[in-house]
Amino acid sequence: MFDTLSDRLDGVFKKLRSRGKLHPKQVDNALGDIRTALLEADVAVEVADDLLGRVRTRALSEEVTKSLTPAQQVVKIMDEELTVTLGGEFHPFTLPGNPSVIMLAGVQGSGKTTACAKLAKHLKGKGKRPLLIAADLDRPAAVEQLRMLGKEIGVPVWSEGRDPVRLAKNGVKEAQRSGADVVIIDTAGRLHVDPDMMKQARKIKDVTKPHHVVMACDAMTGQDAVVQARAFMHDVDTTGFILTKLDGDARGGAALSMTAVTGRPIFFAGTGEKVDDLEPFHPDRMAGRILGMGDVLTLIERAQDKVDQETAAKAAEQMMKGQFTLEDFLTQLREMRKLGPIQDILKMLPGGKAGMKELAEAVDEGELSRAEAIILSMTPQERREPAIISGSRRLRIANGSGATTADVNALLKDFDGARTMMRTMMGGKGMKGMKMPTKLPTR
Ligand code: GDP
Ligand code: MG
Repeated sequence: MFDTLSDRLDGVFKKLRSRGKLHPKQVDNALGDIRTALLEADVAVEVADDLLGRVRTRALSEEVTKSLTPAQQVVKIMDEELTVTLGGEFHPFTLPGNPSVIMLAGVQGSGKTTACAKLAKHLKGKGKRPLLIAADLDRPAAVEQLRMLGKEIGVPVWSEGRDPVRLAKNGVKEAQRSGADVVIIDTAGRLHVDPDMMKQARKIKDVTKPHHVVMACDAMTGQDAVVQARAFMHDVDTTGFILTKLDGDARGGAALSMTAVTGRPIFFAGTGEKVDDLEPFHPDRMAGRILGMGDVLTLIERAQDKVDQETAAKAAEQMMKGQFTLEDFLTQLREMRKLGPIQDILKMLPGGKAGMKELAEAVDEGELSRAEAIILSMTPQERREPAIISGSRRLRIANGSGATTADVNALLKDFDGARTMMRTMMGGKGMKGMKMPTKLPTR
């Protein structure tokens, strides 16, 4: 997401940096280029102009033009003002009331049902006891979809009858009866903003009195996203957004306009189809990502959530002892992959988009899978003592994993090299002068 926009902005800033001192005219040229890039990414015109107006005022101040590094200052200002456009301060998702009632709204396909489950799982992880209410009776499969998701995450799902309004009302009563402290209501959407859909949403809102009406907004929607946001804001008074499908490769600019247009925060971003793929939305971190500054904080949080800390600690210990086996390597590989596709992880590192591009291209997801398959085809003993892997064993492993013996040889050689390096490092010689291998031990 935002790759094209990031690349374009990167180009503008590079040009600025090559100038040294900045003339107001150069600032205006750069802002003109940035405006084009924003509009091409589908950022709403008024939002882009407002943002650039603020950047211009600050960028043309004496403090900046007289500074020794004006281009850097302009990037910093852009970062701060983009953060403001995206909502400024982080808005934690608060849950007043008992039960807290959250209603999801949005057009069809925006990711409401998925977001309901993601949110339920997220809140459950924080010690809450959620109840999901399947109040989308327009699409025959919607109730079943939510039921399956509920089963997957171990959260009960309420559904009954043919009347979504009564169903929602009874669902909240059921929550009170069963001691659930959060109620999440899935509602019906239409392909476009539609009076009937709004009427139903408003009725459900009236009877359930939700603390939050959260609009699911598909980041892949173009300018129409802003139209939708305004309509929902007007009709059901949205309290905020979940920005879905941020993992896609759409231009995404309309999504950047939501908060500026409605004054309501983006609470969460959906970053994949799975129930785990939800992240609190931090405007400053998102601005950083768009401007190619990376987002190490989110990466660390993701690691804390998804990586088994005990496994990681044990692997580190084994490494220290120089007893790192292929088995440990396999475990590590799997833990790392829980963080997401390797390309995405690299993009979250500073300099991500531009600097890490080469690295990202060099690391091939398919190769990681191949390495995994090869190790899986080994016996436990072979994983612990790769030295015993003879020619005939190599052939068996290659056949078992669908790789060639050359692949198996390469993996073993790289692993051996990596292990020798670790032993040397841990053997007291330290890292000084160590030449890091240019390849991961995967080939
Ligand atoms: P609804 O009609 O608003 O309830 O939308 P759904 O929750 O049924 O989602 C529509 C489609 O989008 C489904 O195929 C979901 O798997 C997919 N989807 C939802 N959220 C995300 C997301 O964050 N990333 C990706 N890649 N797909 C998503
Ligand atoms: Mg749905």
